[in-house]
Amino acid sequence: MPTEVINLTAVKRDPNFVDRLSPDGDLLRRCIQCGTCTASCPAAPAMDLTPRRMWRMVQLGMEEEVLRSKAIWLCSICYQCQVRCPRGIPLTETITRLKEMALAREVAASRESVAFYKAFTDVVRRYGRMREMEFMVRYFLRGNPLSAFGFAGLGLTLMSRGKVRPEMPKLGGEGRFDKLFERVAELEGLK
Ligand code: SF4
Ligand code: SF4
Repeated sequence: MPTEVINLTAVKRDPNFVDRLSPDGDLLRRCIQCGTCTASCPAAPAMDLTPRRMWRMVQLGMEEEVLRSKAIWLCSICYQCQVRCPRGIPLTETITRLKEMALAREVAASRESVAFYKAFTDVVRRYGRMREMEFMVRYFLRGNPLSAFGFAGLGLTLMSRGKVRPEMPKLGGEGRFDKLFERVAELEGLK
C-alpha cells in the first residue's frame, strides 16, 4: 500500500477536473475520506492508488496522476465500494468514466490494459464466451507481441492441464452478439 505524502506544490492540478469527470461534481466533493471504499475493494491490495486515496486526488485535481494509475484498470466493476459509500457517491460509474478518459487520451501507462480489454471484448463479441487461445493471440498482437515469449512457460503449463486448448474449436453463434454490442455503444453515446 502506498504511504508517501503527496507534495501538492510539486504537481500540476486542475480544479475543474472533478466537474469534467462527473456531471454532478458536487457528489465527488462529498467524500469524507472514511476509507470504506478501500476496505471494501477486493482489488485494493494490488492497486498503486487505493480507492480512498484516488478520490482525494480527484478532489485535488490531480488528473495526470489519476489517469496514469493502474488502479482504474484493476477495478473489476464489482460495485462493493459504491453500495457501501456512506456519502452515496457513484464510485463505480465514475471509475468507468476515468477509464474512458484514459482511453480517449491514449495514456501510455494504460496501453497494456486497453489491449487486454479490447482483446477480451472482441472475443466475447464474436462468440458470446471466452476462447482463451484466441484471446491471448489478440492480446499480444494488440499490445507487445515480443512479451508473449515471457509467458511461454505459463502457456505450456496451462495447455498441459487442459486450461487452454490450442485447437480453437469452432463455436456456434458467431456474430450473434453484434446487435447487443451496438446497442450498448449507442446507449453510451459511442455511436
Ligand atoms: S467510501 Fe465514499 S466517503 Fe468514504 S472514502 Fe470512499 S468515496 Fe469517500
Ligand atoms: S467497483 Fe472497483 S474500486 Fe469499487 S470495490 Fe469494486 S473493484 Fe474496487
